[in-house]
Amino acid sequence: MPDKQSLTHLAYSSVVDAIEEVIGENGKKAVFRFAGLENLIDNPLDYDTEARVPYEYVSKLFFGVREILGNKGYNAVMYRGGIISVENMVKNSEPLRALIAMELDPVEKLKMGYQVYVRNSGYDPEEILKHIPEIREMLIHRADCSECNGLVNKNEMIKDITKPGCFFIKGIMQGIGYCFKKEIEVMAEEIKCRLIGDEECLFRMRYEVIKAKD
Ligand SMILES: [Zn+2]
Repeated sequence: MPDKQSLTHLAYSSVVDAIEEVIGENGKKAVFRFAGLENLIDNPLDYDTEARVPYEYVSKLFFGVREILGNKGYNAVMYRGGIISVENMVKNSEPLRALIAMELDPVEKLKMGYQVYVRNSGYDPEEILKHIPEIREMLIHRADCSECNGLVNKNEMIKDITKPGCFFIKGIMQGIGYCFKKEIEVMAEEIKCRLIGDEECLFRMRYEVIKAKD
């Protein structure tokens, strides 16, 4: 039973890569030191797709980024981290590459991509993933969103947040859409968020098929 609140080594390392990409190596080190994760400076994690880091590492890193970079900086770094995570997942997963290359309706492929993500996160796609073909959108409900879980009761830290703020997961949702970008255009948004008082975090992916299949 995977710990739903934690991250795989691959996802964690991808966030670290995003931090370095956005604020440089010294910035990354500063975040690690601030977060009390100095041990990861000299001993970075691998890109293992199965192994999970302790949840404590995740909350420390996420807090550290927010404290050092502010909410806007957090949003930019984490969004990029989500996209890099998906790129790394694809690099490490033959089945995902096969799915992307498959001769199949792009909408079906996109849906399968989200199903894989939901299942890998420890959830049942039947329960939290909804596809509404009439208006070309897919919705993913996260009532126990792992990204904001450590923050929802910290009013002091979130009082300035006025818009949905789970940018890592939003980046993952957008990154999954980018996997199929030759055939379908996807725009991911978080339309409800527990950080602004909603009962759940809700991600909406609108899509437009760009290349009809013969
Ligand atoms: Zn949220």
